[in-house]
Amino acid sequence: MSRFWSPEVRELTPYVPGEQPRERLIKLNTNENPYPPAPGVEQALRNYPADHLRLYPDPDATALRDALAKEYGVDTEQVFVGNGSDEVLALAFQAFFRQDKPLLMPSITYSFYPVYCRLYGIKSRTLALDDDWQVPLEAMHTDNGGIIFANPNAPTGHGHGRDAIGRLLERNRDSVVLVDEAYVDFGGESVVPLVARYPNLLVTGTFSKSRSLAGLRLGYAIGSHELIEGLERVKNSFNSYPIDSLAIAAGVAALEDTAHFDACRERVIATRERTRQRMESLGFTVLPSQTNFLLVTHPDFNAGELFVGLRERGILVRHFNTEALQDFLRISMGTDDEMDSLIEALEDLCR
Ligand code: PMP
Repeated sequence: MSRFWSPEVRELTPYVPGEQPRERLIKLNTNENPYPPAPGVEQALRNYPADHLRLYPDPDATALRDALAKEYGVDTEQVFVGNGSDEVLALAFQAFFRQDKPLLMPSITYSFYPVYCRLYGIKSRTLALDDDWQVPLEAMHTDNGGIIFANPNAPTGHGHGRDAIGRLLERNRDSVVLVDEAYVDFGGESVVPLVARYPNLLVTGTFSKSRSLAGLRLGYAIGSHELIEGLERVKNSFNSYPIDSLAIAAGVAALEDTAHFDACRERVIATRERTRQRMESLGFTVLPSQTNFLLVTHPDFNAGELFVGLRERGILVRHFNTEALQDFLRISMGTDDEMDSLIEALEDLCR
């Protein structure tokens, strides 16, 4: 604690990201993709003339926004890009959620949302998940406070379809609804097609998961012109160049290779289903997942102890033990070999 810190900073409990270990571990703790990005990404980075780095990047990142607009069938003016979806989310909280009414979010959700609320002095109200671990869409109603949830939800892993979210939007036309689709490419249903009908819908996405580019820090939002303009206003009051020239070039190259994208996500999905079966046969309860991770708990073994046992065997997963989520492990999907090692270690630990 320092006397130089402002009162808000003294009160902050920042988000703590999953560990990035220095030693060689099987790393299944931060939902990265085990496969490399599209080969065109490496080429784009190699071919990028270093001399161009003298110059500021395109402040509008037009090449990347054009490519995303084409990918999602929207106008370029409906696309916003930022330094990871974490940054895009931070800008959205500032642009839309400082309202009279509290922001609604599920009690089990991406833990950055409450951090942004504290940082920006935004009131929030949490709603418990349904009995089947689903985000309680029916209970979400607000005049102008805003609604945010991840779909599929994190860290539970399952999501709602487009129709259900359409009904939520219909009931909340005066409030910004932010749907965080960080994991949607692994079996969820994107609500981007609803953007044309609902000017209050903002969808965020990331290159960190299904496009294997977590190290590049590239995220985006898609929404109506008015919402994107709101994000631009906040961005331009903060940093005129939120993403760098290399990220623009690499992002465009990643979007060009749809075959690589489809092959990688299909492999991850197949690994997830195989891992689910094997974990269930070890007695784990495994929540349904449309993501690149599984949230699991065991009726007979303490997840905290399993976390330590795995770590001793060179495998890093994420342990959740909060009031809402007691004693669960979240396991990111690695390669099949890595998952074989995980299962072997668990067989040993769950004897
Ligand atoms: N949303 C959710 C639900 C996430 O789990 C993550 C990854 N931790 C993010 C957003 C942020 O991803 P990134 O900043 O890498 O785009």
